[in-house]
Amino acid sequence: MSKISINIATGSLQQAEIVVGIDLGTTNSLIAVIHPESKQAVALKEHDSSSLVPSVIYFDELNNAIVGDNAKQFLEKTPERTIFSSKRLMGKSYNDIKENEFFFSYKVIDDDTDRLVKVQVGDKFYSPVELSSYILKELKARAEHILKTSVNKVVITVPAYFNDAQRQATRDAGKLAGLDVLRIINEPTAASLAYGIGINQTEEKTIAVYDLGGGTFDVSILTISNGIFEVLSTHGNTYLGGDDFDKVIVDYWSKEFNFSKDELQQNKQLMQGLRIKAEEAKKHLSHNAEYRTNFNGDILTINKDKFEQLIQPFVNKTLDSCKQALKDSNITINEIDEVVMVGGSTRVPLVTNAVSNFFNKKVNNTLNPDEVVALGAAIQADILAGNNKEILLLDITPLSLGIETMGGLMDVLMPRNSKIPSKAARQYTTSKDGQINMRISVYQGERDLVKDNRKLAEFNLTNIPAMPAGLPKVEVSFLIDADGILKVKAKELRSGVEQTIDVKPQYGLTDDEVEKMLMDSITHAKDDIAIRALTEARTEGEQLLETTEKFIGKNAAQLSQDEMLATAQAMQTLQLALTMNDKNLIQTKIEELNEISRPYAERIMDNAVSSAMKGKVI
Ligand code: ADP
Ligand code: MG
Repeated sequence: MSKISINIATGSLQQAEIVVGIDLGTTNSLIAVIHPESKQAVALKEHDSSSLVPSVIYFDELNNAIVGDNAKQFLEKTPERTIFSSKRLMGKSYNDIKENEFFFSYKVIDDDTDRLVKVQVGDKFYSPVELSSYILKELKARAEHILKTSVNKVVITVPAYFNDAQRQATRDAGKLAGLDVLRIINEPTAASLAYGIGINQTEEKTIAVYDLGGGTFDVSILTISNGIFEVLSTHGNTYLGGDDFDKVIVDYWSKEFNFSKDELQQNKQLMQGLRIKAEEAKKHLSHNAEYRTNFNGDILTINKDKFEQLIQPFVNKTLDSCKQALKDSNITINEIDEVVMVGGSTRVPLVTNAVSNFFNKKVNNTLNPDEVVALGAAIQADILAGNNKEILLLDITPLSLGIETMGGLMDVLMPRNSKIPSKAARQYTTSKDGQINMRISVYQGERDLVKDNRKLAEFNLTNIPAMPAGLPKVEVSFLIDADGILKVKAKELRSGVEQTIDVKPQYGLTDDEVEKMLMDSITHAKDDIAIRALTEARTEGEQLLETTEKFIGKNAAQLSQDEMLATAQAMQTLQLALTMNDKNLIQTKIEELNEISRPYAERIMDNAVSSAMKGKVI
């Protein structure tokens, strides 16, 4: 970072604004930055404390939120006021989580099953977005204290399997914490960046990222080419992690030292004490052959062999996931160039050895596995801050891109969140005989009617050779290059006539506008579906009337008197139906007209007409 410049007005030194990377984890969260001198990514920490901030929030009796190490002790003391694993709730409805409800020792509201979940503490309700924002606020405060400067701009990581709602919720949490979230990136992508994989743009690689944290496990298969990270597949278990290792040690000791189940269940303090010792034992055994401690007068022991035997089933499960992820991505073990280890639990030697054996190669585990995601986020943040110009920005389209089709409908060619660079194409045809021009209007947005979206550009494809309606094949293609510039091309494939236009879709909208458009699309989703259905029915009806009329005009001689009469009548009732806002009525009338015309149409089949009845028409 640090391009230092002088503000001429005030004479003060101005430092380029710092951008930090945040790993918002299920168990632990942390912040990392690029060190101004060494240019290396470093995790932020106060002198000799850990860089990890436990993702735990304790609400005291006055509803003040206490986050991190100071909150952890309340997990057993005041479980109903102490929130952990709030990341599991992000973007989820009660229906999504109810089968795992037993997992949460605090109250998750279940009265309105389709709405997003809330957590109740005393008489207060908190959304997962708010809960995560408390953790982010704590991280921000910590970073500001350590860096002695204000911290506003951030990159936050999320698991590769997070869907749109979960990513949006993470973004909102950042906003609520007073942060400007420059980008949400995938955890495996960040971890790869931390190892420098994908930094070189000419590099083409296939990698596996194995992430075993406190309570979750996932493995992702990625390809990197031209600086673009693509997640091919991801597999895992959101209820498997280091916590399970602690639990099997507790169970082992309970058996060995005859603690009764009832006693443990009733005596929360005893249970908590054992759990703390178990985690200590687990960490100790990552570097030693035996663990031994004094616990309430008993000597608790466990050796490495026993521990490994106890956790083997969990490790095997993770390897099954690796198999599945490979299968889903159609990649063989031999095609994997790098394996990246992520998550505190990969410090267990058995885990690293098992993964290394599975993939048949040495794994990347030289960086702190519980910091590596944040370190990668810091590298991405630095790129976004403009300090590292050689590296391509990884980006996605914030809103869908498409063109207007008949009836003012939005036809999406590139859905939102498409990777950049990206390509998409679709074929269209004409609606009128002899039509020689076609207007291509390009829109951005999530609504079904283009009038509710934002127009980016418009151009005419001219000099299409005159052909019957439905015959021209016009291919409209969208290409977004690495700089986020959209190129729209329309080409009539029979004649080769083409037209191209450049559009800049990224910079027209502020984040707030993008957000508003997304919110609107959600609020209006039901209206939009109804309007789209009605418009589509109307367009179909109008087209059918037009083609039928034309058909009769051309082929009158071959139709019987009865056929003529029935057709005229059916056309009239369809015409009337088109003036009403009743999609079903229009469809019925379309069907009726089709029933009448089908027998004679088949008799005197005309290819141009039938193709005009099919397909999309601009
Ligand atoms: P998350 O990504 O879910 O927030 P982390 O990557 O921080 O989680 O991993 C936390 C887990 O790592 C905890 O279960 C913790 O006990 C475990 N862990 C941390 N250090 C070690 C170690 N030295 N040996 C074994 N497990 C460890
Ligand atoms: Mg993690």
